[in-house]
Amino acid sequence: MAGLKYSRQRESIKEFLMTRRDHPTADVVYDNMKIIYPNISLGTVYRNLSLLSDIGEIRKLSNFGGADHFDGNTEPHSHFMCTECGCVQDLETDGFDDLIHHAGRNFTGRITGCNVRFFGLCEDCLKQSEE
Ligand SMILES: [Zn+2]
Ligand SMILES: [Zn+2]
Repeated sequence: MAGLKYSRQRESIKEFLMTRRDHPTADVVYDNMKIIYPNISLGTVYRNLSLLSDIGEIRKLSNFGGADHFDGNTEPHSHFMCTECGCVQDLETDGFDDLIHHAGRNFTGRITGCNVRFFGLCEDCLKQSEE
């Protein structure tokens, strides 16, 4: 992005998110960044996270429980949130063509995608509830 100064900390935050599949919150990112940059502040982490999501390098997931979650995977995919433990997991978006088709039946514009949020019990919580 033009005019955006290179920041080693921002690159590290992005790299960290690319290695994670569990959609960490800003607090988790902060805890991990502190290992590399002991003097980094939570404010710096927040600023870089919102900057990265503004320029589309990461995805910010709002409305998943309390805190925002962050995703290094910017490919289109959907998310599942466990209502018990609050974990956020990826879901394949294959098969949404039908949904888009149905949603567009009485709509005069053109729908090109959808962002669906699923919720329920994750595998671990499901096992625990059955014990
Ligand atoms: Zn769970
Ligand atoms: Zn994801």
